[in-house]
Amino acid sequence: MTKQLYCSTCNTLFSKWEGYIDQDQDRGFGYCFKCQAQNDRDAFEFYEAAIEKLSKGLNPKNQKIFESYAYEMKRLVVDKAFDEGVMSLKIESIH
Ligand SMILES: [Zn+2]
Repeated sequence: MTKQLYCSTCNTLFSKWEGYIDQDQDRGFGYCFKCQAQNDRDAFEFYEAAIEKLSKGLNPKNQKIFESYAYEMKRLVVDKAFDEGVMSLKIESIH
């Protein structure tokens, strides 16, 4: 079943593709392929930086253990660190 959605990011009307993961489809919104790709890149860059930062903050023993984890596991540890307030987002002014 083809269903058209509006992209929440760029407002383009697009058709869901094979393997599309439903998001806000109930309201007729989702993320188009281009914006999903951009979001994935942004998320990857975010996690790359967060993983590096977290690793540097560990003692040598834990750092060695952390570095042995697969990428997905490192992401889970980063998520947990944010959930538990061990890490926090700092938004810096661009001015
Ligand atoms: Zn879009």
